[in-house]
Amino acid sequence: LARTYDQIARLRARAKRRAVDWQHQTTTELAATFGVVVVEELKIANMVRSARGTVEAPGVNVAQKAGLNRSIAGQAWGRTVTLLEYKTSERGGQVVKVPAWGTSQTCHRCGHRDPAARDGIRYACANSACGWVGHADTNAAINIKNAVGTPVSGRGDLGVTRSAKRQPPRAA
Ligand SMILES: [Zn+2]
Repeated sequence: LARTYDQIARLRARAKRRAVDWQHQTTTELAATFGVVVVEELKIANMVRSARGTVEAPGVNVAQKAGLNRSIAGQAWGRTVTLLEYKTSERGGQVVKVPAWGTSQTCHRCGHRDPAARDGIRYACANSACGWVGHADTNAAINIKNAVGTPVSGRGDLGVTRSAKRQPPRAA
């Protein structure tokens, strides 16, 4: 039994190292590529939504999962932003944080807000005069970038949203 606990601990440590490696690689790349990186301010409610389930299919152990998700996701995102901040400032760039309320529900092109427009990774604007369709994270990232008052010139600007695609390897 002690050996099993030991193996589990080693697996967890390896998963954590992989996640941290991923964060270092990604933030180095972002800081080297962009002068200004815009990130959304931490939003706990969004990150734990998946644990809650629906009325028809309520989540199991929701409180525990929500607590765990909140702590893991919060730590990971906070660490990512911290790395980004020191790496961009080392290169003379900066990280800008913006309140991100509604960025995933609003069309970046026409401003139409529709909670149903996002379906998984796909965003489809319901405004027939617009009809923009694309990756939901792209739409949210552009909204986040647009939320900054004054764009800064230089190496270019980037809006970053937490993305399913960009998630680090899942911790064990
Ligand atoms: Zn639109």
